[in-house]
Amino acid sequence: MLLEIDHLSVRYRTRRGTLTAVDDVSLSLARGETVGLVGESGCGKSSLGRALVRLIDSDDGAVRLDGVDIARLDARRLLPWRRRMQMVFQDPLSALDPRKTVRKTLSLPLELHRIGTRADRRQRIDALLEQVGLAAHLADRLPHELSGGQRQRANIARALSIDPDIVVCDEPVSALDVSLQAQVLNLLADLQGQRGMAYLFISHDLAAVGHLADRIAVMYLGQIVEIVPRDKLWRDAAHPYTRLLLESIPSRSVRLSSQSDAAAAELPSPYDLPQGCRFRQRCPHAMPVCAQSDPAQSVLSAGHTVHCHLYGNGAPVLAAGVESAAIVNA
Ligand code: SF4
Repeated sequence: MLLEIDHLSVRYRTRRGTLTAVDDVSLSLARGETVGLVGESGCGKSSLGRALVRLIDSDDGAVRLDGVDIARLDARRLLPWRRRMQMVFQDPLSALDPRKTVRKTLSLPLELHRIGTRADRRQRIDALLEQVGLAAHLADRLPHELSGGQRQRANIARALSIDPDIVVCDEPVSALDVSLQAQVLNLLADLQGQRGMAYLFISHDLAAVGHLADRIAVMYLGQIVEIVPRDKLWRDAAHPYTRLLLESIPSRSVRLSSQSDAAAAELPSPYDLPQGCRFRQRCPHAMPVCAQSDPAQSVLSAGHTVHCHLYGNGAPVLAAGVESAAIVNA
């Protein structure tokens, strides 16, 4: 396995107290695979992405890249591993240095990692610009002289300039016009086909991720509650929260019992996480046991896991009168 995130936790110490952003998360990523990480704003998905590429430090757990735990390496020992992991940020304007031309921005990671001569770097950048669909003359422009779509292409080129094995894409199209979103998503898919890197694709948009990712990990209040292969997402998603996200996609005609009420329920505070299942205040299937204990992981089928008391040993364990989301959807 290319990457293994093993029981990773990230906590922020603030004046209000300790905020748990990522709580005991385990997830893997194979070479060339795309894993979608989905959840509402503030659920911890960006913190997980940033901890993975070591933009922030984690508190517990491991991040193994080709078997080596990079979560605790100091800056010097981390440098060669950094080359293998890059990030594409949501807002390309803030991700690019406003005082540097596109060429200079793309050149800096190559210089940092001592890749090629000056002439090699120039050639490499020209080829990269062509790959991401940016005309050569734009290399000498500053970020504010580019359109939003061009800036995000430059941002993607910056991330790919040192040939990473893993790219964390954090809401890479949500700041773009709808007309540009499909272009950038297609570009990311094409580049992956050409270069074979793995993507962790972070988004609040389950519909977009559902089309792009090989597997989808659903995150709620710092925890991954379900991992489901793409071909099982629409019909076999099992966790009530995943079903709620599917229900909230406008084009879906699926109606699920009383789940629309759940959308309006208040989220627990990440400063004071409740005992038991964190989704229970919003869950239409909540049972007494859900307040008592955190649900363990159940394996529903190959590659499909869920944390929910409705499921045990791979078969739905349904309380009387409770319909499985999968059954309702059948
Ligand atoms: Fe709902 Fe209970 Fe499952 Fe949590 S564990 S999602 S409250 S049924």
